[in-house]
Amino acid sequence: MAQIIVQNVRKEFGAFTAVQSSSFTIEDGEFFMLLGPSGCGKTTTLRMIAGLELPTSGEIIIDGEEVSQKPASKRDIAFVFQMFALYPHMNVRKNISYPLISQGMPKAEVKKKVEEVAQILGIEKILNRPVGGLSGGDRQRVALGRAIVRDPKCFLMDEPLGALDAEFREHMSEELRALHDRMRATTIYVTHDQLEAMQMGDKIVVMNHGVVEQFGVPQDIYDWPATMFVADFIGSPSMNFLRFHGMVGGGQDAVELNGSRIAVPVSRDGAKGDLALGIRPEHIRLSDASGYRGEVLATEYLGTNQVITINTANGDIKARVPSTQSVQVGEKVGLEFDPRAVTLFDTESGRALL
Ligand code: ATP
Repeated sequence: MAQIIVQNVRKEFGAFTAVQSSSFTIEDGEFFMLLGPSGCGKTTTLRMIAGLELPTSGEIIIDGEEVSQKPASKRDIAFVFQMFALYPHMNVRKNISYPLISQGMPKAEVKKKVEEVAQILGIEKILNRPVGGLSGGDRQRVALGRAIVRDPKCFLMDEPLGALDAEFREHMSEELRALHDRMRATTIYVTHDQLEAMQMGDKIVVMNHGVVEQFGVPQDIYDWPATMFVADFIGSPSMNFLRFHGMVGGGQDAVELNGSRIAVPVSRDGAKGDLALGIRPEHIRLSDASGYRGEVLATEYLGTNQVITINTANGDIKARVPSTQSVQVGEKVGLEFDPRAVTLFDTESGRALL
């Protein structure tokens, strides 16, 4: 078990900065997600925590000990690689035993430990099978077994399910989460899949271009995105931005959009200039009573709900409304925004006004 503190950690490769000064804390026993688009610095961050890459500056503290310049072998961390490289010429038992045998653990103890792990993963029956003929799922379980068997302080996983098809991926992600709930070992998991991060993570760090955009529990990140990047990256369809030029702040509880008064939460931060009102599709209602109107461009049927694309004076937006509501393409509709779910952004800095 381990608490991990990443403090002002930065990584440069020559003239290129892959990770800007980043700080976040991973609590003991947490399932922690590093989320962001390709190239944002997730893997580099993970590799620095593992000790496979040394930070240019900053500190990594594991259980109170500053380890940023310590080699990987001294950090008691298990790295589960994406490709789950198993030793193809060995059977399942030998694959799982390998880390213990190379540590010099006595044979009887190894046997006991491997059997315990096999039971946790439900692979007791295949211990003597060669890994070559195993299904994808069993191969993943064997690779996990090899990581778990060492009882490391912490597991690091870099897109471990990336190579799997969608259905199987969902099944394995549930298994991984259930395994974590039983073992409670600190786990850091890299993914570019926002849904996977929201479903599996206790906490999420969202990164973009080497910068930590936000760090928190999934619901806060979804409900209160700190930046337009986070608002756009999390959720599907993503948050709408109704762009306008104006001013907010100073205890104001409404903004004017194209002549209509739209209620917003009172913000402490004031701003003037190019702003945006952020609202998620599920927080928009169609209502004849609203003076803020738009024209329906398209409808997409999704079973219980439908997603409607609407052209407004502040840009095209999407609303998720019940399928029972009849909506025609070309129709003019009134739009009501749930004031509790509105976030205002300064579009120049991209930051939410708090
Ligand atoms: P992906 O999901 O595509 O792996 P990522 O978010 O994990 O992306 P990183 O692999 O951390 O991103 O890479 C961040 C940036 O740093 C990328 O632009 C990458 O090209 C660069 N980079 C990573 N490792 C090195 C290296 N050893 N030398 C030079 N540049 C590197």
